[in-house]
Amino acid sequence: MVRIMSGSRRHDVLIIGGGNAGLSLAGRVRRDGCRDVAVIEPKTVHEYRPMLSYVASGAATLADLRRPQERVTPDGVRWYRDRVVAVDPARSVVTLGDGTELEYGDLAVCPGSQVDWDAVPGSRAAVATPYAATSYLPDQAVRTWDLLAGLTSGRAVFAVSDRHVPCYPVGLKPLFAAADHWRRTGVLDAIEIELLVESARLVDEAGADHQLRVAAERYGVRVRTHTTVTSVDAERRTLELRTPDGPDRTAYDALYLAPPHRAPEWVAASGLDGPGSEGFVAVDPHTLQHVAHPRVWGLGDVATVDAMPSGGALRRQVPVVARNIQARRKGTEMRRYDGYSVAPVTTSRRRLLLAEFDRDARPQPTVPVPDLTRPRPSLLLFDRYLQPTVYWHKLLQGKVS
Ligand SMILES: Cc1cc2nc3c(=O)[nH]c(=O)nc-3n(C[C@H](O)[C@H](O)[C@H](O)COP(=O)(O)OP(=O)(O)OC[C@H]3O[C@@H](n4cnc5c(N)ncnc54)[C@H](O)[C@@H]3O)c2cc1C
Repeated sequence: MVRIMSGSRRHDVLIIGGGNAGLSLAGRVRRDGCRDVAVIEPKTVHEYRPMLSYVASGAATLADLRRPQERVTPDGVRWYRDRVVAVDPARSVVTLGDGTELEYGDLAVCPGSQVDWDAVPGSRAAVATPYAATSYLPDQAVRTWDLLAGLTSGRAVFAVSDRHVPCYPVGLKPLFAAADHWRRTGVLDAIEIELLVESARLVDEAGADHQLRVAAERYGVRVRTHTTVTSVDAERRTLELRTPDGPDRTAYDALYLAPPHRAPEWVAASGLDGPGSEGFVAVDPHTLQHVAHPRVWGLGDVATVDAMPSGGALRRQVPVVARNIQARRKGTEMRRYDGYSVAPVTTSRRRLLLAEFDRDARPQPTVPVPDLTRPRPSLLLFDRYLQPTVYWHKLLQGKVS
């Protein structure tokens, strides 16, 4: 049974954040025999965030991705329903919003990342208008599909940042869902579609990148890589761009944003960042141990793991942290994270491809299906219907190896 605690005490393994990383790690550490595991998480409702892309594609509702936090917290794990405001790694103490101090044996820091509206001036104002939205926030995900499905002519611009965006290639899911919808409803020819991506590729893995470009061409999408939105003018509905050919400007009737993300501010204020970590938790990307504080670990979207942040990446990171906590205590050899990550991207309302790769963009297929980067209906069914069940019943319970 999950217990909600208050007061001051020490925990053998303390985990900040009861999202994908935190609950999965808590479950795994419990399974490994640790009897005193606690998670700090302020929200009472847990969200399966990958489903937000389907909400933004008109293929799911918010109810499909939400479960009570108490129900998904692994058995035997203590839950503090509060938020962390500071960590003092020198004293091995975490401070909660209500002033409670918790000591720890080992600390796992996984509060995820947050949309950084300030990184693109004007973007926050833009998504407050009826002409722009993002799938990266629940209410906005609902608005994304309303906006895209309601467009019958004009210019649709999709801007996908790669600055700490969780699983950024999934920003293409709403694009392909909308393009397919526009084709089916006979308005595709009346809509000019522009895709702006900051990175060199639509997804790191070359085969999947090729397939996505083929799909984009089929819908007449103009793809511009190495292109950054530097500001948005919400009133005039224009974007200022930085491109390889210099500054540029583009106009929109509908704008989709996968916006840059940042780490919570208390991470840097607590000294958990490091040189060049841009405010994120500075860990060794192989062992996931903090570079300066050996009893502190970082994983998930908040950590500098030198790999694309994704839920799929956690299937590899969680066992590494669980094992390495033991290894540090026993003085045995640490396990290493190879930078595995994954991006499932729809190429229409019926097909999906799966790009699995390591930190050097080398293919790392784990699903026993040949050529996963070929879009198919079976993969879409897997991603939309099977994967959430695996998430709720296995991954969040720490059943990862
Ligand atoms: C729209 C979208 C689509 C995605 N699609 C996919 C996909 O298809 N496949 C895939 O593999 N990945 C996908 N991802 C990425 C995946 O969801 C994340 O990589 C994963 O959720 C990261 O887990 P996390 O635990 O690090 O962060 P989160 O899941 O964000 O959890 C962090 C938790 O920490 C809590 N927290 C925050 N601040 C504090 C604090 N101060 N104190 C205590 N707790 C705090 C939060 O409330 C939250 O519950 C997607 C993400 C988004 C947003």
